[in-house]
Formats: sequence, C-alpha cells, structure tokens
Amino acid sequence: MDQVVIVGAGHGGVQVADSLRHKGFPGAVTVIGEESALPYQRPPLSKDFLAETPEPQPLPLRAQRFFVENRINLRTDATVTALDRARQVVVLDGGEELPYTALVLATGATTRTLAVPGIDLAGVHELRTLSDAGKLRAALGTARSVVVVGAGFIGLEFAAAARKRGVDVTVIEAAERPMGRAVSPEMGDFFAGAHRRMGTDLRLGEGLGALVEHRGSVAAAVGTSGREYPADLVLVGVGIQPRDELARAAGLEVDNGIVVDEHLRTADHAVYAIGDCAAFPNASAGARVRLESVQNATEGGRHVADMILGTESAYTEVPWFWSHQGPLRLQIAGLTRLGDDTVISGDVHSGRFSVCCFRDGRLVAVESVNRPADYLAARRLLAAGACPTPEQVADPAFSLKDHAK
Ligand code: FAD
Repeated sequence: MDQVVIVGAGHGGVQVADSLRHKGFPGAVTVIGEESALPYQRPPLSKDFLAETPEPQPLPLRAQRFFVENRINLRTDATVTALDRARQVVVLDGGEELPYTALVLATGATTRTLAVPGIDLAGVHELRTLSDAGKLRAALGTARSVVVVGAGFIGLEFAAAARKRGVDVTVIEAAERPMGRAVSPEMGDFFAGAHRRMGTDLRLGEGLGALVEHRGSVAAAVGTSGREYPADLVLVGVGIQPRDELARAAGLEVDNGIVVDEHLRTADHAVYAIGDCAAFPNASAGARVRLESVQNATEGGRHVADMILGTESAYTEVPWFWSHQGPLRLQIAGLTRLGDDTVISGDVHSGRFSVCCFRDGRLVAVESVNRPADYLAARRLLAAGACPTPEQVADPAFSLKDHAK
C-alpha cells in the first residue's frame, strides 16, 4: 500500500494531507509534528494574538475531527530524528520507524539569533511558534518599553501591536530601510514614515551591539552606534533559517534550504520538500528561491499532492504575500528585488497606493497598501502575463483593476 509520510504539521504539511485525501488518495497518510498543539495558523501570532483581549485561542489549521474523518494519522509531540532513504523509513525520537513510499519534508524554519552579549537574558524573545507567542503576549502585558531588533515583517507587525497597547517601542534596524529584503525602496520609506507616525522610534542604520542586564533581566539594548535604548522586553526579529538538518544528514543537497527541482522533488524522487524549508527554481526570478509565506507553503502542498497522485507538472505559482501592520494592509504579488524600476500608481500621501516593479520593462511585482483591488488585479495580470507597461502605469488615469478586466 502507498504510504505518505509528511514531516512537519504546519501550513504546508497539513495542506499535503488535505489535498491527498480530497483528490482520492487511497493509501495511508501520516503527518508528524514536534509541536504539541493542534496544527495552527502562524500569521495571527504577530498580529491579533497580541491584542489586548482576554485569552486568545490559536486559530487551528483544521479542526481535530478533520484529521479523524479523513483518516489522517496526525502525530503531534513527535520529532523525526533521521531519514533512512535506502530503507525508506523515518525514525522518530522514541526510536519508532515509519515506512514511506513518498516522503514530504515540510519542516519550516527556525528563528535566527545574534551572537551578542546578553542575548540569553530573561526578557529577550523570539517569535516563531505558539509557545513563543504565548510568552511574548504575557510579557507585553506588563512591559513599559520594548526594543525590537530588526524591521522585517514580524518585527514591524509586533511593533504596531505593541504601540496599539500603549507601550513605548523602539525598532533598531541595521539597514537603511525597513523590510529591505522584501519590498521596494519606495514602499520601505512609506512604512518607515507610517511607523514613526504610529509613535515608534525607528532607528535605521543601527545594529544591535549588546543587551544590558539589571537584576537578571534585560534592561536596555545598546546599538552599534553606542546609544542605549531602555527595554524591559526585547524581540529579536532578524529572520529565519530553513530547517534543512534532516535532509542534510540524509545526504540530500541543501543550499539555503532543501534543494528541489521545478517539481518540488529532491534528487531522491521519493522525497519532496515544500514551504519555508525548500529552495526551488523560480522562472520569473531566474534563480532558485526560498519563500517564506503561507501561500507558498499551501500551494506547494497542493502541488506535491498532485505529484504523488501521478500528475507531473512544474510549480509555477505567482508568489503573493501579505503583512498587516496596525492599520496598514500590505499585499504583494510577484517577486521584486533591489534595482527593479518602480512606478507608483495612486497617491502615496493618501496611504492607499501601489508600487509597480519592472525589470527590463516587464512587470515583475506589485506592492499595494490598502488597495486590495490593485493586488487582486496584479495577481491575475502576472499569472496571465498580460502586464501593463511602465508608461501606462505612469498615466494618472491608469487603474490596474481596469487593466485586468
Ligand atoms: P511551518 O508552518 O513553520 O511548519 C513547520 C512545522 O514543522 C513546525 O511546526 C515544526 O515544529 C515542524 N518540524 C520541523 N522539523 C520537524 C521534525 N524533525 N519533526 C517533526 N516536526 C518538525 N506568512 C504570510 O504569508 N503572511 C503573514 O502575515 C505571515 N505572518 C507570520 C507571522 C509569524 C509570527 C510567523 C512566525 C510567520 C508568518 N508568516 C506569514 C510566515 C508563514 O507562517 C510561514 O511561511 C509558513 O508557516 C510556512 O509553512 P511551512 O509549512 O513551511 O512551515
């Protein structure tokens, strides 16, 4: 009998199991997750979960009965410690072995840390899991001054949530712009201004030098400039590292993630990798990429389920992302990188506009703030390859929504 084993019970892993069953896979499906909670949604952890409400509950990815009704063997609190590819078995922490005919690695990522003095002090947090979010939420309830290290999506979402609760917030960021790896300079500058207007003290070009202790807990962060920022709570949000250790130990190629082909398959054709842990070739980027988004994990999950069911095709989904930072709804379709040409559609000062990013005259991404219609139109246009020119976008009468009709 066919037996699919999925390592990682997060967004990607659960989607594989769901898609397999909904497309009629008759064999055994096992999902193994090391966290103890029922698989849950990560995005709210840096947003609504931190709001000043009575005990929030994590939003489950699927109800408990979904796993039972669909004969999905969900093993929580279980860690896969090794893959034996020759025998096609995974080994669990208790020594138990599970055989597979197809194996999906959906192991996600872990937070990066910084090797600076004081990083292990009480009051210094990271944010990846529900357990992290629970501790952070509790600490936020009594915090007076927060320092966020890193102005990426998660750091800024947390900063906005903390400001909403009336806490003093300083964000220090080594680069000259927030979200520099993910958005255009125009969008980065807009968000810098918006966070300052929310009352956040945003310090760009400022790295973390050290954390200072007082009575066993963090009391301040010292920037690389030597300046000291008082803090009884520090969130370190400096990015993530793919969980590719199992694949590496099993002799699979890893290079900033588990290397897969355009089908999301490793060099061992019984083994796939999806989501945050996988590095796959992306035609529009012209390179191998590793994406960190719910959409990439779930679309990858659907794709691999099709592959296991015998439909062989390349994974070519147009990437999309979102980030909610206080009142700002940022939505991105496509992939941009530094050096792309940009044309703005709409009025930046109104706080509702889109940045269209072009490479060699071709639209590669659209970043929208509080303009969901633009974003939906951009997804359709990028998927169809029916894109406007920079000159068309520059026309004040231009509308992405109308162009997509
Ligand atoms: P995950 O969802 O991380 O799941 C991987 C699971 O595998 C984990 O539970 C891990 O414990 C488990 N695992 C790893 N190794 C093993 C092992 N050896 N044995 C057993 N289990 C193992 N994306 C967006 O698009 N929009 C957002 O607004 C957004 N907000 C976010 C906010 C936060 C706070 C975080 C942390 C992420 C956010 N993301 C957002 C990113 C998004 O959540 C991830 O891209 C997505 O979860 C990736 O799914 P995944 O299945 O690859 O990994």
